[in-house]
Amino acid sequence: MIGNKPRVILEPRKKFNYSSDPKIFYDLIIVGAGVAGLASAMYAGRLGMKVLVVGELSGGTITLTKSVENYPGFISIEGGELGRLMENHAKDYDIDVLSAKVDRIEIHRKKERKHFLIFSGKDKYFSKTLIVATGTEVRKLNVPGEKELNGKGVSYCALCDGPLFKDKIVGVVGGGNSAVKEALLLSEYAKKVYVFYRRDTIRVEKENMARLNEKVGKGKIVTVGNTNIVEIKGDSMIKSVTLDRAYEGNNEFELGGLFVYIGHLPRNKLVKDLEVKLNKGGEIIINANSGTNIRGFYAAGDVTNSKWKQAVIGVAEGVKAAFYAYEYVEAGDGVLPLIKAKLLEVKKNV
Ligand SMILES: Cc1cc2nc3c(=O)[nH]c(=O)nc-3n(C[C@H](O)[C@H](O)[C@H](O)COP(=O)(O)OP(=O)(O)OC[C@H]3O[C@@H](n4cnc5c(N)ncnc54)[C@H](O)[C@@H]3O)c2cc1C
Repeated sequence: MIGNKPRVILEPRKKFNYSSDPKIFYDLIIVGAGVAGLASAMYAGRLGMKVLVVGELSGGTITLTKSVENYPGFISIEGGELGRLMENHAKDYDIDVLSAKVDRIEIHRKKERKHFLIFSGKDKYFSKTLIVATGTEVRKLNVPGEKELNGKGVSYCALCDGPLFKDKIVGVVGGGNSAVKEALLLSEYAKKVYVFYRRDTIRVEKENMARLNEKVGKGKIVTVGNTNIVEIKGDSMIKSVTLDRAYEGNNEFELGGLFVYIGHLPRNKLVKDLEVKLNKGGEIIINANSGTNIRGFYAAGDVTNSKWKQAVIGVAEGVKAAFYAYEYVEAGDGVLPLIKAKLLEVKKNV
């Protein structure tokens, strides 16, 4: 403590140049700069690894939500700020950062040695180990009109677009935590928010349920269960949606905006053609060490088969991945453990 003020450091204490270098053989490349990737980068930096983190959206998905109230240490923090602070924390160490898209990953083997190649634009980067933390992409409704009216009243980000719907009647699709959180945010701008969900109950944290009930009590939010949206209509702007079950005697429902929160799909395009194992839902299967079926190849966060898609879980998986990648590199690029295993095998057989 300094006087009465707790000492919290939020900006990097030292500035490094952070630039990526295709000539370096990195110890670790992290694909994804969301919370999972940034936490890995911070730990790998502290461990002194030569690390490159490549990501399109720094801070990732959490930056697209207004308030985060379940990240330990912060009773409430804006998602964008949490992402920024995590980037700052990673950049307190001498890491390389590349704000770009990764187009392809290759795994190369030479006898027992292995390395990973990451292609981004014209450049390619080499690494001894890899962490994939590419998160998820929004699940679309896949109904007629959705594609055509995307950006014309149909949105997947209340934080980004909510203010454009001031005093309008808007709909939210979904019955989970994200849908309710974003409906609560939209109710700050919109005249009224209708939440359409397909089950008979909404499944959310108790805290958010209480807030929802309060808004329902005030008539600001209306929940409509057992209902699917089957079509979105409009021309230059959304006009209405068609419901599969009549609401107040009508299947057509007029709306000035529609926000879709029906879940996410793993962003696995980069690894689909590699021999890394995915589950039926396309998520990367990881073990308790954040390792995959390929030695030296780790994954963390929402792209994995972990059940709960939450920032703190992605962070923990990212940290574990960094520790195990460090051990792997320290052990000699994966060669040493293999030699050790072979020696043990020989001993056993003698
Ligand atoms: C509306 C909403 C509200 C939420 N609220 C909360 C909450 O209150 N509390 C909570 O704990 N969680 C919340 N979550 C969940 C939380 O956002 C996620 O669990 C978390 O952000 C996942 O982090 P991640 O690092 O795994 O992936 P992401 O944050 O999705 O990051 C993925 C990263 O990979 C990058 N990437 C992907 N593909 C490529 C490529 N080919 N090349 C380069 N980069 C690539 C992206 O640009 C991004 O940097 C919420 C989610 C949503 C949608």
